[in-house]
Amino acid sequence: MPHEHPPGMVKLVGAGPGSADLLTLRAARAIENAEALLYDALVADEILALAPAACVKIQTGKRAGRTSMKQETINRLMVRMARRGLRVVRLKGGDPSVFGRVGEERAFLARHGIASEVIPGVTAASAAAAQLQMPLTHRGEARRLLLATATLRDGRLADLDGADAADPKTTLALYMAHQSVAAVASRLIAAGRSPATPALAVENAGRPDARVVFADLQSLPAVLAEAAFDGPVVILVGEVVRQAEFAAFTDPNLAMLSLEAQA
Ligand code: SAH
Repeated sequence: MPHEHPPGMVKLVGAGPGSADLLTLRAARAIENAEALLYDALVADEILALAPAACVKIQTGKRAGRTSMKQETINRLMVRMARRGLRVVRLKGGDPSVFGRVGEERAFLARHGIASEVIPGVTAASAAAAQLQMPLTHRGEARRLLLATATLRDGRLADLDGADAADPKTTLALYMAHQSVAAVASRLIAAGRSPATPALAVENAGRPDARVVFADLQSLPAVLAEAAFDGPVVILVGEVVRQAEFAAFTDPNLAMLSLEAQA
């Protein structure tokens, strides 16, 4: 059977954006069969609750800024538990293959003779687009989707190639960009992206308590600062953002924040 979970094997599983009904069936089965679960901070309680009561559950990450377990420690824990003959699940928010260190973890396991399998999940950008009923690509309007991270190192933007991102027909999905949004907007505008490009930011995308702010590229940093989100935030930039529908959001005032800011 291709998807059984033999003892001593590690499954690297995508938990999706945080609602249990956005798990794949394959992911849900892996969690239900787990004997050891190592999970990231972004994984929701209702998903952890699917694991058997006897399963050892270890949280490996805390929210941004607070201490997390070192990657090396996580790697060693996975190996130790797999060698004990446990069915190990390494559970990550969203898709493990998108900014989820899956390459490093797989390589470490392979070096230590441990078999692994990746189970995909719904990534934050997909969850946000579905909730907003907007596409990420659109014929004639958005021919590329760029999943990018934009973290600050010593107060400067460490990554994000402005030239790639400046194409008006590219939709940008920016991860880990909440703190760097002002630097990101400046870099994109300097690279030639129009300041009037529609942009939005979604906190807790894919969950019932999701919140959104809508603006243009130039005013997004100010609008996002005003919203004071403290959950995970994904930013979408591009013409497709015009198609977003805000009806699904619990706080319609927040969805409209930007319109007031622009008026
Ligand atoms: N593997 C994850 C991404 C991990 S990086 C995925 O595929 O979604 C962590 C970043 O992902 C956060 O800083 C945030 O930008 C984004 N993110 C993860 N879950 C999110 C959610 N539910 N809502 C909004 N952004 C989210």
